[in-house]
Amino acid sequence: MLFSRNRKSKVFYYHDLGTAHTDMGTDISLFLKHLSVFEKEGFSVVEQITEPENQVMICFDDGWRGLYENREVLLSRGIHPTVFIAVDLIGEKGYLTESQIRELHSLGFGFQSHSWSHNDLTEFSGDGLDKELSGAKKHLEQQFGWSFDSICYPMGRHSDKVCQGCLKAGYKLQYTSISGGYYDMMGKKQVCRNCAQYSSPKELRMMLLSTSRLFRRHLRALHYVKA
Ligand SMILES: [Zn+2]
Repeated sequence: MLFSRNRKSKVFYYHDLGTAHTDMGTDISLFLKHLSVFEKEGFSVVEQITEPENQVMICFDDGWRGLYENREVLLSRGIHPTVFIAVDLIGEKGYLTESQIRELHSLGFGFQSHSWSHNDLTEFSGDGLDKELSGAKKHLEQQFGWSFDSICYPMGRHSDKVCQGCLKAGYKLQYTSISGGYYDMMGKKQVCRNCAQYSSPKELRMMLLSTSRLFRRHLRALHYVKA
């Protein structure tokens, strides 16, 4: 069977709320429809997944500024997403500034590492890779004063060397761009994530309730480099 029905807890990722800063942004009306799908299907939106089923975690990659401008959309619904930020992108045009990040953090948003430069991690080795992984972790922790114990691979790109490097740097979890349930790849401390930013409500519902093995294989081929 191509699709197997499941209620596994899942992570959904986006880039921005609203489309003012990036064409990877999600229209607010579409985002609200996504929230309705989660609610209608009996999934609760949580800050961190703790149960094998019926939970959804929402992530935003890169730290785009629409998240700050449209924060009430999330806060008024009690949603505290996790945002992955890269050292080099903070304060750049269209991205969150340091003070906006601090304010959102004080309002309950989670912030985690998205490397130093936001380049493909499989292209680095030695000191270069160390800077992207442990360098970014230390820098962000020093800058903000809270712990960055998870990382999200830029563009989803990773290899076994990258995965080992993340473990060595002290990251407890590695967020991928491979679809599936939260616990599906936990053996390697990797978290599956489902790309939702352009999905129609119907497509989102399908991602929420089913797992396509073929689609997962395709995403793995796209993001995983054997090294
Ligand atoms: Zn990114």
